[in-house]
Amino acid sequence: MSDEATTAAEETAGSDGHGPRDQSPREANREETTGRAEVSNFEIVDHWFTLAADRLEIPEDVRAVLSSSYREVQVQIPATLSDGKIHVFSGYRVQHNGARGPYKGGIRFHPEVDLDEVRALASLMTWKTAIADVPYGGAKGGVNCDPKKLQSGEVEKIARSFMDKIEKVLGPTRDIPAPDVGTNAQTMAWLMDEYGKLHGHTPAVVTGKPIALEGSYGREAATGRGVVYMLEMAAKTAGVKVNGARLAVQGYGNVGSWAARLAGELGCKLVAVSDAEGAIRNDDGIDPDLLHQQVSEGRAVPEFEDADAIEPDDLLATECDVLIPAALGGMIHEANADKVNCKLIVEGANSPTTPAADSILANKGVFVVPDVMANAGGVVVSYFEWAQNLQHFRWTEEEVNERLGNIMRGAYETVADRAEKDDVPMRVAAYSAGIERVLEAARLRGYLTDERVPSNGY
Ligand code: NAD
Repeated sequence: MSDEATTAAEETAGSDGHGPRDQSPREANREETTGRAEVSNFEIVDHWFTLAADRLEIPEDVRAVLSSSYREVQVQIPATLSDGKIHVFSGYRVQHNGARGPYKGGIRFHPEVDLDEVRALASLMTWKTAIADVPYGGAKGGVNCDPKKLQSGEVEKIARSFMDKIEKVLGPTRDIPAPDVGTNAQTMAWLMDEYGKLHGHTPAVVTGKPIALEGSYGREAATGRGVVYMLEMAAKTAGVKVNGARLAVQGYGNVGSWAARLAGELGCKLVAVSDAEGAIRNDDGIDPDLLHQQVSEGRAVPEFEDADAIEPDDLLATECDVLIPAALGGMIHEANADKVNCKLIVEGANSPTTPAADSILANKGVFVVPDVMANAGGVVVSYFEWAQNLQHFRWTEEEVNERLGNIMRGAYETVADRAEKDDVPMRVAAYSAGIERVLEAARLRGYLTDERVPSNGY
């Protein structure tokens, strides 16, 4: 499937139970972001779900339940900003499937957030929590604001107002948000505090909180750490020697910078990095800790002195062993996938690779560990944080990391075994395993009769 074909499909969509796709404000903002595919996150996730559902021969009516959301909440967030004017933002919380437990998924603050994207990311969370085998369903949320252009107090105002409007569908046994692009531990602290005003102190209502507010040790690094565990697991199959492996990282925020720094501890050499402002390259190695320090002081990646500036798309063309996409969705697409010059991709970002690009990478022999398992480290440690909060108890960072490693390695082995047994790519195997686990939970709850559910002994 070409990326253009999916865009055409998007225009005529509407017969899948969702109604016409919400398009705004995507079109208005598309030009602001360079290098992304003209294919939505929803189309990407739906493509992989459909492929796996076809292989599992899931009946149409069951499939309709699994491919649509349980609940979609859209709210208006008017906020008076420092210019004295009222700005109206849109906030979304989508709960996709709760068969395996409370809904779980991050909240994104980004100008391109829309219902379509949040739906896709919520569905991805359903399969991700199932593959990692943590007792959650899938959800996602977002507000179409740009925190980079807002003062801290303005972001706080928007976060608190968003919580006031969605709190009725949240709670430790209903739906538990976490950080995503454009939000962080501070945002989670405001959300927890706002929820607490109505319900009493409830730390387990959000995860990814600061350590001082019952956050978990290891949560901030968890997604990047999980990506590195996956890198280690996949290295042999991909023909990569971890110690000395050359690494390129797209996006140097939470996921990208932690993955680069932790991979550096294993002897990987960071040779190229990008962020929203541009990209840099140094074949002799870029110090990931120094770069992180610079970024955390508010400076952009291209301002790093000990490297050459390159075009953002040339990051993909950098000769390396491992590429970690850790920015936004649709960054590796039909028009640039052929440039990719690595042996292994570990997808830190959600939906970084379009279906058309995925085929090109497969033909080039690039081994891909897909997002739906590769970046599950965040939700796994979110699960640990929630479990600690419910007991008002705290684990050490060593305990957290060890348990995270066990879960990530277990998920990798489950998917790799399945890929080998079914002779399919890791992504198809991962979706198949996730879908089967959700169906099994739905059957045990009594939502589906036994003979309607394909079971492979999970
Ligand atoms: P973040 O906001 O901390 O960092 C995002 C980074 O991407 C920034 O460096 C930004 O400059 C960069 N970026 C944005 N546009 C870019 C572009 N056009 N080219 C190159 N870089 C660009 O976000 P994060 O939390 O690190 O999330 C990154 C990705 O990982 C997202 O897809 C997110 O959904 C996914 N993810 C995050 C978590 C988590 O725990 N934070 C968990 C699972 C998945």
